[in-house]
Amino acid sequence: MTQFPSYASSFRLYKSVSEQYNDRSILDSVKRLIPEKVLQLIADDQILKPLLHWFKNDFMKWMPKELQCKRCNNRPMSIQLVDANSGALRKTEIHVCNVCGSEQIFQRYDNILRIAETRVGRCSEWSILFGAITNSLPIRTRIVHDYLDHCWNESLINNKWVHIDSTLDYPISFDHPYYYEQNWGKNYEYVLAFSANSVEDVTTRYTQQWYLVQKRRGRKDKMKELREIYYRT
Ligand SMILES: [Zn+2]
Repeated sequence: MTQFPSYASSFRLYKSVSEQYNDRSILDSVKRLIPEKVLQLIADDQILKPLLHWFKNDFMKWMPKELQCKRCNNRPMSIQLVDANSGALRKTEIHVCNVCGSEQIFQRYDNILRIAETRVGRCSEWSILFGAITNSLPIRTRIVHDYLDHCWNESLINNKWVHIDSTLDYPISFDHPYYYEQNWGKNYEYVLAFSANSVEDVTTRYTQQWYLVQKRRGRKDKMKELREIYYRT
């Protein structure tokens, strides 16, 4: 039994995603999604701005946490979660209107090609797929999770890991690591970055309040245990 159940299930997801980032056939498939015009802009300027713009504005759709019934004057719908720990599906969200009974189903995948087909999601689907697209270029990219409520990517640019968040508008989406702490009031404890065989503590890159992070962590450093859990995942 793990002491950190909240980490264990996400570790399975991020390990699977990181392994898919090493799969050439998956990367080739997602690369074909990028319009020729955008590919050309990236090649000319060596920057991710056109890719971020296309992905956010033309390709992906955002799935709100709470839906409203279109038949019933935008009445809030209630949500049922169904876990599905099999195959490519992580879980299913069933949004139901308690008045007219209409349903909307949102299926959450860890499989990159399924996400690329559905083109909808929240920060996890967006960062999982955007990471695959940048890896296909190839710009080495990984998944980062703050263990509060958000995840994003980091890309290796000029030998430095750079913050990338495809859910935000440019230029905030590129190299604005303190944005969340400054604007969303984040109180980090551990911000973790994932590769297929390791998990790395990258918290210092995202905070200007390191002494407060350390205070939240207390005397115990969880990283050794988290690395072991990830290794065994
Ligand atoms: Zn309704």
